Amino acid sequence: MSFHVLIAGGGIGGLCLAQGLRRNGISCALYEATPGIGRAGYRLHMNAAGGGALQQCLPANLFELYMQTSRKNPRRETFTMIDHLGDELGARPHIGPPNDAERPHTAVNRRTLRQIMCAGLGDVLHFGHTVTGYELDGERVRLGFAGGSSAEGDVLVAADGINSVIRGLRLPEVVVRDTGMRGMYSIAPVDEDLLAELPPPLLDGFVLATGPGGTTFSFGLFDPRRPLDEAVADLAPGVELDPVGTYFMVNFSARLPDAELFASDQRRLHEEMRSAVRDWAPAIRELVDRVDPASIVPNSLRHLEPAEPWAPSRVTLLGDAVHAMPPTFGAGANSALRDAAVLATELGHAARGEKDLLTAIGDFEANMRAEVFPILRASADPRAFDHDYLPDDIPVVRR
Ligand SMILES: Cc1cc2nc3c(=O)[nH]c(=O)nc-3n(C[C@H](O)[C@H](O)[C@H](O)COP(=O)(O)OP(=O)(O)OC[C@H]3O[C@@H](n4cnc5c(N)ncnc54)[C@H](O)[C@@H]3O)c2cc1C
Repeated sequence: MSFHVLIAGGGIGGLCLAQGLRRNGISCALYEATPGIGRAGYRLHMNAAGGGALQQCLPANLFELYMQTSRKNPRRETFTMIDHLGDELGARPHIGPPNDAERPHTAVNRRTLRQIMCAGLGDVLHFGHTVTGYELDGERVRLGFAGGSSAEGDVLVAADGINSVIRGLRLPEVVVRDTGMRGMYSIAPVDEDLLAELPPPLLDGFVLATGPGGTTFSFGLFDPRRPLDEAVADLAPGVELDPVGTYFMVNFSARLPDAELFASDQRRLHEEMRSAVRDWAPAIRELVDRVDPASIVPNSLRHLEPAEPWAPSRVTLLGDAVHAMPPTFGAGANSALRDAAVLATELGHAARGEKDLLTAIGDFEANMRAEVFPILRASADPRAFDHDYLPDDIPVVRR
C-alpha cells in the first residue's frame, strides 16, 4: 500500500521519523515553523532507547557520525547528586535498556544531532511552515499553514512539541501542568585546566548539585569523541555541522518571579547565577563564571498529563506533543526518538501490506502508552529528586 505522511514539527522526533520513513521507502514531507535548525537547548543526555532508535532510522554512516560526535565516555554513566562543595550525596543508574559497555550512548550537542538528522532529507524538509490546524476528510488529511497554504497526505504525525497545535485538536482533553519550577539553561566553555580542577563527580553522566538554602544547579559535560570536521570528512563529506568545542551545560533552578526571569537581560541572569554559587567550591564557582551570558535561556518547567487511551485515526502524535515530561530522567528526547523508530516500523508494516494502516497506527500508540507513559508519570513524581528514588515500573539499568 502506498501512502504519504505529513510530519508537523522538525525537532528531535520529527526529523528522526522522516529518516525512518525514508529507510522504509515511505513518502513523507516535514513542516517546521522555524526558518532553520535553531538553538533550542544545548546538550541531550542519550540512553540506549534513543540511541537504538537512531541506529534503526539513520543510514549507517550518519549513525556512525552521531556516535563519533557524541560525548566521550563519562567517568561514570550515572545521575550523580552532589553538594555545593562537590562531595557526592548519591548516584543512581540511568533508565533505559542496557547500554553498550565499550561505546555507550552518552550525550550529544542537540544542534549537531538535528543537523545530522537533516542530512540527505533534501526536499522532504519545509522550514518556515507554521502549522495552524488540520482537517481529516475520509482517508485524506489536509494540514493548514499560517498564511493560508496547505498540504495533503494520508497520515499526519504531530511532532510539534509541548504546545502542539495538532494535539489541541486531536486530544483536546490533555492537560498541560506547570510545575511552578523555573530555570535557566546555559553553556560554559571549558578547557583541560578547569576540567582537572573540578570535583570528579562533575565528570559523571549528569550531575545535580544542591547548595545552601536548597539552591540547585545541574551540570553536564559535553566533549565530543572526535573533532566534528574530522568525523564529517571521514564519514559523511558534505554534511554541514557547526564546530562544537568542549563545554558544560549549566542549568540553574532560578527563584525569580516570572516577570523578572523572563524580562531580565542575560548579564543580569548571569549575575544571579554567580551570586547563587558564592559559597560553593572554587572550581564550581569558576565554571559558573565561565557561562557565556549570550547562551542563557530562561524556561518554565511544564509537562503533560498522560492521556487516557484513544481510538487510532490517521492523525497520530509522538514525542513532547503527547508526553512532554520533566527532565528528571533525561528521557524526553530519547522517548521522542524511540517513538519515531516504532512508528516508522509500524508504518513500514502497513506499506508492505502486513497490517492495515489503522492497526499499525493503533499498535504504535498502544506501545507508546505502555513504554513511555510510565516514564512520564515517574518523571513528574515529586519523589524523583530523592537520592534513593527508583521507580518500580520502568526499566532501570543496573551495573
Ligand atoms: C533544557 C532542556 C534539557 C533537556 N535535556 C534532555 C536530555 O538530556 N535528554 C532527553 O532525552 N531530553 C531532554 N530534554 C527534553 C527534550 O528536549 C524533548 O523531550 C525533545 O526535544 C522532544 O522532542 P520533540 O521532537 O517531541 O519536540 P521538539 O524537539 O520540541 O520539537 C518540536 C518542533 O516542532 C516545531 N513546532 C512547534 N510548533 C509548530 C507549529 N505550529 N508548526 C510547525 N512546527 C512547529 C518546533 O519549532 C520544534 O522544532 C531537555 C529539554 C530541555 C528544555
